[in-house]
Amino acid sequence: MKTHAEFPNLFIVDHPLVQHKLSQMRDKNCPMGSFRALLKEISLLMGYELTENLPVRTQKIATPMMEMEAPFLAGPEPVIVPILRAGLGMADGLQDLMPMAAIGHVGLYRDEETHEPVEYLVRLPKPEGRFFILVDPMLATGHSARHAVDVLVKRGIMPDHIRFMSLVCAPEGVRAFHAAYPQIPVYTAALDDHLNDKAYIVPGLGDAGDRIFGTF
Ligand code: URA
Repeated sequence: MKTHAEFPNLFIVDHPLVQHKLSQMRDKNCPMGSFRALLKEISLLMGYELTENLPVRTQKIATPMMEMEAPFLAGPEPVIVPILRAGLGMADGLQDLMPMAAIGHVGLYRDEETHEPVEYLVRLPKPEGRFFILVDPMLATGHSARHAVDVLVKRGIMPDHIRFMSLVCAPEGVRAFHAAYPQIPVYTAALDDHLNDKAYIVPGLGDAGDRIFGTF
């Protein structure tokens, strides 16, 4: 993983396998099925990095050979929260990695004219000291990400219990998001160049939701 001079709380997962799979996804000729499968695989690999400092506790177990103090995850089960709809594509990989995790949902769509997020569905488990992983493949303007965190915070979830995972980020999005929530770490596979005048990430990969669900 690497960091960036301007964004101290941005973690770029530059593992060769992640980068290889992302390049395959960026290709405009990548078929929908492959796009989905690659997104799931990358999410699992990124999830491994994102969870690297989850607290652990030890508990006595017996192997076939002897008793030992073995490490287990401490604390309540984590919660995966996809921002609908494109976030669903990333939640799949995280669920494979953490089958014990609960799944929340935050439904936002982007108003075509203002580019501002509009909320249409929120279902979340109680905070209870849990660790929340918000996922959305594209951190573009940062408005949806910030709004999704607002939604969690309004329901009593502390910002320092939240991490954000995004496949591709625009610098504008990271700047806006961290202006509001500097303490929330963002994990990504790529920090791209810029946003275009329609708020799409360049070079990016186009509309992630359309490419996951085939809604062209
Ligand atoms: N949402 C997308 O799906 N793609 C972008 O480039 C920006 C926002």
